[in-house]
Amino acid sequence: MMFQGFEAQSFPDQGPPRLAALRDVMAAEGIDAYLVPRADAHQGEYVAPRDARLRWLTGFSGSAGFCVVLSDQAGVFIDGRYRVQVLSEVAACFTPVHWPEVQLADWLKAARPAGGVLGYDPWLHSVDEVARLRAALPEFTLRAGDNLVDRIWDDQPVAPDAPFAAHPVALAGEDHVSKCARLAQDLAADACVLTLPDSIAWLLNIRGSDIERNPVPQAFAILQKSGAVTLFAGAGKAAAVLEHLGPDVTIADVTAFLPALRALTGKVQIDPKTCPDLVAVTLAAGAADVLHGADPCILPKACKNAVEIAGAKAAHARDAVAMVRFLAWLDATAPKGGLTEIDVVRALEGFRRETNALRDISFETICGAGPHGAIVHYRVNEATNRPLGTNELLLVDSGGQYQDGTTDITRTMVIGTPTAEHRACYTRVLQGMIAISRIRFPKGVGGQHLDALARAPLWLAGMDYDHGTGHGVGSYLSVHEGPQGISRRSEVALQAGMILSNEPGYYRPGDFGIRIENLIVVVDAPALQGADDRQMLAFDTLTWVPFDRRLIDVELLTCAERDWIDRYHADTLALVGPRLDPDTKDWLIAACAPL
Ligand code: ZN
Ligand code: ZN
Repeated sequence: MMFQGFEAQSFPDQGPPRLAALRDVMAAEGIDAYLVPRADAHQGEYVAPRDARLRWLTGFSGSAGFCVVLSDQAGVFIDGRYRVQVLSEVAACFTPVHWPEVQLADWLKAARPAGGVLGYDPWLHSVDEVARLRAALPEFTLRAGDNLVDRIWDDQPVAPDAPFAAHPVALAGEDHVSKCARLAQDLAADACVLTLPDSIAWLLNIRGSDIERNPVPQAFAILQKSGAVTLFAGAGKAAAVLEHLGPDVTIADVTAFLPALRALTGKVQIDPKTCPDLVAVTLAAGAADVLHGADPCILPKACKNAVEIAGAKAAHARDAVAMVRFLAWLDATAPKGGLTEIDVVRALEGFRRETNALRDISFETICGAGPHGAIVHYRVNEATNRPLGTNELLLVDSGGQYQDGTTDITRTMVIGTPTAEHRACYTRVLQGMIAISRIRFPKGVGGQHLDALARAPLWLAGMDYDHGTGHGVGSYLSVHEGPQGISRRSEVALQAGMILSNEPGYYRPGDFGIRIENLIVVVDAPALQGADDRQMLAFDTLTWVPFDRRLIDVELLTCAERDWIDRYHADTLALVGPRLDPDTKDWLIAACAPL
């Protein structure tokens, strides 16, 4: 298990020699432009050190982006989250490019109007991505080949080889043979290629530790119409799960994956959004008839069964104890002065560790004091570490990976006394979070129809926030998972069992940031007297940690909102109180008193 480090990650002086070495290899290969993405072959949010090519080459450490290298310039494409960070991380030989405002194809066409040869590693780009590039860049010849960064990276780390572990059916709620049979039955093809680690983890009830923060196995798999599965993984990684997997799952070395694709016949399904281009090319070169379709694990994985929901509730109750102990500690310690953001992150991680059930944190803690709270994806390091100021807000967004569930919670606290502005903004954000928590909605509604509810209290005051309201969350899997979400773009109909975050915010750059986040699960709405007999859904709350009452302006609340907060706090005290030591319990009793 790895814990959060705080070293400032930039090493800009190493960028120029590495870039020069890459350009030498490009010239020798006759390549005019070369793509270096953040992604690995599994398109995950986190990558293993071996796959951190973008960071190794450029110094840029963000979780999304890519570099395009030409002989005379190198563009680092970064989205809005990373525009400030990139400036301190990359050397002057790299040019930050605002993406997606500037598209790769447009930038390339402007830099090389006559075109040329565009090189890429076909493991690292999806089928859709390559198709889009081909369509947008008719002047360029796309050339797939082995990875040029790997060729010049002398001390490149080896591929992770952590052994897989069985995820017990007592926590998964359905054994993997049943899942494989269920999916195979609905398969429109003779076989389906799976390349997403969290899909494979869910389907086979296994977990891994190849990637930090995300307990997935790095592997590929082929699901046959018969329900049989072949799992392709690095040498020995699957040895510990042989017995668990049983006779219907064949284990093969990862080097056997491409030969196995070449040997497939009949209709073979891939998900073009995430499947490496090389997989499609290899299938097409053999005898397979390639079909495009969504990864069949994604939707059933998102709809948690009763056992997984029970696990999520247990994980959240445990995590709430750590969070409440943390908040009580913060309340007692911060007023004395001297605390920094890093102290806060360390303390919170310590409380989670003391649950004795933490497998890992679920992402790098976001802990922003004062103006840092307004940087939505702020990650503190030794260079940016800031003391907690008096009469400032502190935003802490964090989570844990437990074997029975994944948590993700944000609370915003005041250190000292809040201003009227702090209270007004906080209360509006809280009202938005409550609106989502209380809503009931007809079956078929997607997150895009609910998103405005979370924003309405802010919109009425001429305010808004520039991120989605909610994302899907896995079951001891990825803290960000699809297909469900609550945002203007979330078309997927919400279904019972889906776990989502509910996290409106408000950010005033240079001043403060507010976000309040609970996890919620979609349930069939409880019966309501006088209601139509239409099928309605609602949300159950999973997260039980008090809000900072000093930041709530009761005057702004409706009676229903006030009742909701009082009931939430009463339920929090009833659930978490009995698990606390007497001092912390006293703190919680005060924090949960009716408004
Ligand atoms: Zn969060
Ligand atoms: Zn979240």
